[in-house]
Amino acid sequence: MPNPVVAVDFPTTADARLDEAPAGRPPGGGETNREDRRVNILLVDDTPENLIALEAVLSDLGQNLVKARSGEEALRLLLKQDFAVILLDVNMPGLNGFETAEMIRQRKSTEHIPIIFVSAISTSDTHLFKGYALGAVDYIFTPVIPEVLRSKVNVFVELLKKTEETARQAEQLRALEEKEHREKLNEAARRIELQTKHNRFFTLAVDLLAITGFDGLISELNPAWRTVLGYTEAELKSRPFWDRMNAEDRAVAQKAIESAVQLQKPINFESQYGCADGSSRSFSWTVAPYPAEKLLYVFARDVTEARRAENEIRKLNRDLEQRANELGKTNKELQAEIATRQRTELALQESNSALEAFSYSVSHDLRAPIRAMQGFARVLLEDYGKVLDETGRECAHRIVSASERMDHLVKDILVFSRLGHTKLDLSPTSVHQTVLESVVSLEQDLKAKGATVEIIEPLPVVIAHDTTLMQVLTNLIANGTKFVVPGVPAHVKVWAEEDGTHATVWVQDNGIGISAENQARIFRVFERLHGADDYPGTGLGLAIVKKGVERMNGEVGVDSEAGVGSRFWVKLPRMERDGATAESAHDGG
Ligand code: ADP
Repeated sequence: MPNPVVAVDFPTTADARLDEAPAGRPPGGGETNREDRRVNILLVDDTPENLIALEAVLSDLGQNLVKARSGEEALRLLLKQDFAVILLDVNMPGLNGFETAEMIRQRKSTEHIPIIFVSAISTSDTHLFKGYALGAVDYIFTPVIPEVLRSKVNVFVELLKKTEETARQAEQLRALEEKEHREKLNEAARRIELQTKHNRFFTLAVDLLAITGFDGLISELNPAWRTVLGYTEAELKSRPFWDRMNAEDRAVAQKAIESAVQLQKPINFESQYGCADGSSRSFSWTVAPYPAEKLLYVFARDVTEARRAENEIRKLNRDLEQRANELGKTNKELQAEIATRQRTELALQESNSALEAFSYSVSHDLRAPIRAMQGFARVLLEDYGKVLDETGRECAHRIVSASERMDHLVKDILVFSRLGHTKLDLSPTSVHQTVLESVVSLEQDLKAKGATVEIIEPLPVVIAHDTTLMQVLTNLIANGTKFVVPGVPAHVKVWAEEDGTHATVWVQDNGIGISAENQARIFRVFERLHGADDYPGTGLGLAIVKKGVERMNGEVGVDSEAGVGSRFWVKLPRMERDGATAESAHDGG
């Protein structure tokens, strides 16, 4: 049944009541509340006009006003959202206000929501009690005085806000505490991790690390002590660490440590240290004192290998020095030898000059008496041949032929000795021309022997000394026609081959040949393979060939087979057609 909810006329006391508005609504708080978070207020009344009236009064509070036309609708809305307060009409069809309140109280999520019953003024005390028994926090009687209603509702609005604020602050506090707690935990974890890492330095170090008292007794040590020295931890801790040094090193170490403690500064020293297996190792020690705790922090590096290497290097250096000295000595000896050789060379040059003088004297002085002997022996034969008997004539013939041989020999010695020291001017020389000249010079001899010389063209232009080259070719051709089987006419062939920088001239004969074992020695002075009766000669022909070719920067050799014939070859620098030496043209690219 509809109740006039709002009084039309405001009693004069209303203003006074407004001033006594419950705490929780701050002066001018309407403004503040409007800015705050809005809370929900549930208005439940079956009479639309009443709802509108309530809404009009409470709209000033600036909160969400949610309206329900029945208890059932109110319960449905309560399922979906939270409310700061419920204004519940007592008299409603269907579920009345009390029944609705009862159901609200029965549900956990809604049991705490304050309920203000809106009731007609005529409500009896029993009625009131029933409401309170159902958890009503207040009663409002119609017609409602707007300020009173607003004040009462605002109390619950503020209460919810405060509760929410408190919960929020509690949550913040909890989060803050949790953050602090987490930070502390993280810090502790970091410290543990750092400590673990630091410990790893200690355990992984290959150097020996230890903490000892001022008495040298080890309280903590790293595994390197055991692995390097071979003692057990108990053994290592049983004596001052310097006890395992020899007496001399120990004295040095103790003195160093004393001064480190006094000066409060780390100190370094080296010592030998005895190992469990009886060997000893070298260590470089650093001892840092920590006077506040009367502790020594000890670091020891094993320098055994380094010292061994240093000693080795020192020894090597000494050896090197010794060898350098020896080398210096050898060098001096060598220099002395060079000086001796230079002296010898000078003496040789002097003796060469003497030889030259001798050759000159041989040519001019010795040949004259030989020719005289020859001349007079011939005079004997021609003018006194009839006077002499057979023996006398035979002797005179022998004088002639012996003196001829002697003349040849003297001539050859002269040529050979001149080749040794005369300066040869090398220039482009036609091999063809030279061979022709040689053949001409041998013409008589060739005719007498019935020998032939075959020249196969082309023949090159070589860099040579023309007279020497002629001497060389003449000797080779003459030998080719000389060393033949008696009765077999000699046939000599001359031809040439050219390569990049050199030309090779071949002189081939059909003679008796030379066995392989004799081929090298025939170029030596006075080496002859046959007696003068079989093949006359001086034994100087090929020696002159060799020396002459070498003086012209060439080479000479022979291919031969005994009984078949010989092929002598002479290799000399050759000339290009444009006039440059093949070698220089070759070098120049
Ligand atoms: P010589 O001809 O005066 O004996 P060489 O120095 O010219 O002296 O020659 C040395 C030796 O080499 C000769 O005695 C001879 O035995 C051998 N010889 C040189 N040329 C030929 C040749 N073409 N065939 C065979 N033997 C040779």
